Amino acid sequence: MPMIPIIDLKAQYESIKKEIDEAIQGVVSSGGFILGKEVEMLESEIAAYTGARFAVGVNSGTDALLLALKACGIGPGDEVITTAFSFFATAEVIALLGAKPVFIDIDPEDFNIDVRQIEAGITAQSKAIIPVHLYGQPAEMDRIMAIAAKHKLKVIEDCAQALGAEYHGKRVGSIGDIGCISFFPTKNLGAYGDGGMIVTRDEQTYQLINKLHLHGEKEKYRHELVGYNSRLDTIQAAIVRAKLKYLDRWNARRREIAEIYSARLTGVIIPAVKDNCRPVFNQYTIRTEKRDDLQKYLKANLVGSAVHYPIPMHLQEAFSGLSYKSGDFPVAEKISTQVLSLPVYPELSSAQIECVVAAVNKFNGE
Ligand SMILES: *Cc1c(COP(=O)(O)O)cnc(C)c1O
Repeated sequence: MPMIPIIDLKAQYESIKKEIDEAIQGVVSSGGFILGKEVEMLESEIAAYTGARFAVGVNSGTDALLLALKACGIGPGDEVITTAFSFFATAEVIALLGAKPVFIDIDPEDFNIDVRQIEAGITAQSKAIIPVHLYGQPAEMDRIMAIAAKHKLKVIEDCAQALGAEYHGKRVGSIGDIGCISFFPTKNLGAYGDGGMIVTRDEQTYQLINKLHLHGEKEKYRHELVGYNSRLDTIQAAIVRAKLKYLDRWNARRREIAEIYSARLTGVIIPAVKDNCRPVFNQYTIRTEKRDDLQKYLKANLVGSAVHYPIPMHLQEAFSGLSYKSGDFPVAEKISTQVLSLPVYPELSSAQIECVVAAVNKFNGE
């Protein structure tokens, strides 16, 4: 069997080629490349999908987080609490606005922010919490919302890996004050380039973000605020709209594949699913002490895998100015040496799934 890649965007394209080609062609032949109907329709469809009332398309998931923080008034002197274990962008945007990221260690069970430790990180400067639904597994939002209410903090959900995931029956993005979505090509609802979206229940927040992402413009050439150029590209919006119809089916297939892996893999720690959580498995991530050897073995046996992420936030060189040190977040540090993500996209065939299982189990001597 040929190499099983960690993600196969070509296979997905082949499965819906006609609709994608028509979507792209529709925009190109309309001549309208900036904003317009496709962006507006996707905004209302994603607002409805998540259960938040409003949505604003932006240039990327990173910009979604940046504009969300900006809309919460975050700036120099403020502190924002987030997880020590995520993609860099989650904390990068905090620093970019001149605020201080305050990291919290993770729960080894679901790799998400450890809610039992959040309050220890809260100070008089704290303004917001950014929980990340890592790998598509919802963070413990009830506890996070209760802590935020008690300390008057905003909650910005990083849903970049979790569109469609449910926590106690609610879709992520609709639980906190603001939800941030990424359409980066490898996410479970990926565009063919960069793209992102912000969702919120609050009309004022929506109005503010809507201005911020278009140069702070109130009417054409009248700028009320200093903002950003962060629009969702119209071709990307059309592509994402064509794919959105399949998202629930694809997420269900991801869960099915995850169930097969979890039932069959031996010698590794499989991802736990917490009560009342319905993950979307943007990644299926196992843990093993022999991570690097297993990854080499899988590669030699033509099975792709990836490490999300090898370095926790507080040990990133870019954050050396924050004076964190090795040992500060033992769980995130240990887990960063153990995690390995396996192929989990909906287009995987049964034969490919068998191959992945067989390769992992053979490495473990089964
Ligand atoms: C992908 C990702 C982002 C950033 O999204 P982009 O669209 O790539 O800018 C932020 N947070 C997490 C957890 C991500 O996985």
